[in-house]
Amino acid sequence: MKGLRMLGGGRVAVETFPDPEPAQGGALVRIQASGLCGSELHGYRADHAQSANAGHEAMGVVVETRGTAHLKVGDRVGLHAVWGCGKCDWCAQGRYTWCQSKLGPSPFHAEYVAAPEHVLLPLADDISDPVGVLLSGDGLGVPWHAQTRLKTAPGDLVVIVGCGPIGLGNTLVQADAGAEVIAVELTDYRLGLARQMGAAHTVNPDQEDAVEAVARIAAGRQVRACIEAVGKPETLRLCLKLVGLGGTVMAVGEQPATPVDISEELIRRDITLMGSWFFHFREFADMAAAYRAGLAVDRLVTHTFALDDGDRAFAEFAAGRTGKAMLTP
Ligand SMILES: [Zn+2]
Ligand SMILES: [Zn+2]
Repeated sequence: MKGLRMLGGGRVAVETFPDPEPAQGGALVRIQASGLCGSELHGYRADHAQSANAGHEAMGVVVETRGTAHLKVGDRVGLHAVWGCGKCDWCAQGRYTWCQSKLGPSPFHAEYVAAPEHVLLPLADDISDPVGVLLSGDGLGVPWHAQTRLKTAPGDLVVIVGCGPIGLGNTLVQADAGAEVIAVELTDYRLGLARQMGAAHTVNPDQEDAVEAVARIAAGRQVRACIEAVGKPETLRLCLKLVGLGGTVMAVGEQPATPVDISEELIRRDITLMGSWFFHFREFADMAAAYRAGLAVDRLVTHTFALDDGDRAFAEFAAGRTGKAMLTP
């Protein structure tokens, strides 16, 4: 089968990989749509090639089963990116991200993937292919799970730093929850997308000082939460400056080790610094219900590319010229 491989140095190749075979209790899924994630840009820009293909947000159609309990050929499914063992107490609760015996998932930017049944999310007919990717991957999953922890309320002032797909998803979820969102981002194109997702204000730190701009917009109100969706120490530090007294900094972008002045930045201002990883498998039903109730998830997708165009897809995505981009193998 064909799949993408990151060669490093901003290059991506279409290569041939062995056809996967489903294990007992698993299914072979023909990938229909596979989303590009900002976390893949670390491998994209690395100085060496990645050993396997890439991708961890996808949906497809079951083309073969081996002793599955419920799934059958022809079912449309989303693929959860974190494959819990399926046997421990956390997995029984649908919290695969907390499983201590995770299975290594097969990457998804390919024509096929073989997966155990318990990581596959059946998609109803009213969920389109791109929306299926967003509901079963980072696209909505990360912002959704972050909000289950943040619990912002209508009228809360929320700053979102970084408007790649995850920042845009957070903008969508926070605006839907009634928060007044200030989006902070370096490209005007993505600030425009943030407006479409419901941001009330936008700030481009290339054009004005972000701390001064947010203070002007807040006009004396406290920033209740600041969501870090870039994954760089400097933007985490910016969030700690922007958040109001008693507020929360939520880190959702993968970060290198970053020093924090516990006394000055957290204790004396009653700040909560919080992390949130992916989403719990069991939250899928709530996300699907929110989509059906009108959460405009489909607005997040701005570009679609053929798998053979993977090189161009990553170049456009890495340059900040797309919102959520999808490959269609
Ligand atoms: Zn991701
Ligand atoms: Zn487990």
